[in-house]
Amino acid sequence: MGIVLEKLPGLCGSLPGGELFLTTADTMINWSRKSSLWPLTFGLACCAIEMMGAYASRFDFDRMGVIPRPSPRQADVMIVAGTVVKKMADPIIRIYHQMPEPRFVISMGSCANCGGPYYDSYSVVKGVDKIIPVDVYVGGCPPRPEALQYAVLKLQEKMMKMKSMRLAGASPIQEKGSRILT
Ligand code: SF4
Repeated sequence: MGIVLEKLPGLCGSLPGGELFLTTADTMINWSRKSSLWPLTFGLACCAIEMMGAYASRFDFDRMGVIPRPSPRQADVMIVAGTVVKKMADPIIRIYHQMPEPRFVISMGSCANCGGPYYDSYSVVKGVDKIIPVDVYVGGCPPRPEALQYAVLKLQEKMMKMKSMRLAGASPIQEKGSRILT
């Protein structure tokens, strides 16, 4: 229990017979959320090989709480790894909407960011942010697994700024617990 309390974002003090821990609900929720990111297993092209490398034993995504899930219903992060062809645009949008709120997107590699080497192709979407919102972009062709892990760290930083409190006049999406960044 002592180790868990040391890692929690808040104030922890000793009292006779126990310990006192003080934090805000937002900090606690955000910390829990960022510590268990479950990405959808979703590879589109060669960048997906580097993504798989990030999950393997040498880089070991699991130690950061990143566990791949086979269903969008169980996932909160979509890592778009590879070339987004126009034929795949509709399935990507559908899968994105099947993920529960709040959901996050990492665009991995030049192809997902802007079309990459296929920018001039008639069949390639020139950036996945043309069809779904992106939280973090990872540059490179392909980016190394460390770059993807760094992107997850940046996403976690972003998640720690989220506010889950219902605000007066909040939009329906905010009411569902969507992100409100300060
Ligand atoms: S960015 Fe490079 S490595 Fe990644 S999918 Fe495109 S061509 Fe392949």
